[in-house]
Amino acid sequence: MQESEREDGALRVLVVEDDPGIARSLVRGLDRAGYRAQCVASGRAALTVSPPPAVVLLDLGLPDMDGVEVCRLLRHRSDVVIIVVTARGEEGDRVAALDDGADDYLVKPFGLAELLARIRAVLRRSRPAGPEPLRHGPLVVDPRTRKVTVGGVEIALTPKEFDILECLVVDPGRVVPRQEILERAWDAHWYGPTKVLDVHMAALRRKLGTPGLVETVYGRGFRLGGVTGATGATGAADPR
Ligand code: CA
Repeated sequence: MQESEREDGALRVLVVEDDPGIARSLVRGLDRAGYRAQCVASGRAALTVSPPPAVVLLDLGLPDMDGVEVCRLLRHRSDVVIIVVTARGEEGDRVAALDDGADDYLVKPFGLAELLARIRAVLRRSRPAGPEPLRHGPLVVDPRTRKVTVGGVEIALTPKEFDILECLVVDPGRVVPRQEILERAWDAHWYGPTKVLDVHMAALRRKLGTPGLVETVYGRGFRLGGVTGATGATGAADPR
């Protein structure tokens, strides 16, 4: 299971930069600072990265589209932290990027220490409250603290087990396809054996200790259900 324990809770940072030298040194610096950095060299690639990063460092001079447009589209679809990192230092450029959703703006050349400080500052501002705990019957999943309780008793899950459970609890009753869980809990494109999911799912069920809480929908996927008195139960709940 060598692919699984790479998960370490590190924040994902996406570097959108078409200059390979700058991209490399940013990724290296971010990795050293404890982030999990990934780089793409075009605006189009930035818009299709999955799973979504927590922070985007966005160059404005990109080969395929204008960075401000990328900023606008990213902001339109998510609350991701966007820090523009660009050689364009004119006031008009700053205003356009900030108005189109950027959280901060840093002009090249800049020092890595300042960039890291700005990331920390924006993250502090952007996540004061955090998401609400998700509930289903006796189950409470807190995405902010990554704590899980069943009937008030805390259950110690591995990061992977937590990610799988989170996929299910965001919409109890919906059948979540195996591939969707693999993509969200593992990586954007999982081409390995899907049996690895069954192994983690079995461990997760054992730890939750509530029969029927995680249901297998044969040939389709998994869902939460079958909990007596579940607050999130839907009309489609399996009466099995
Ligand atoms: Ca550029």
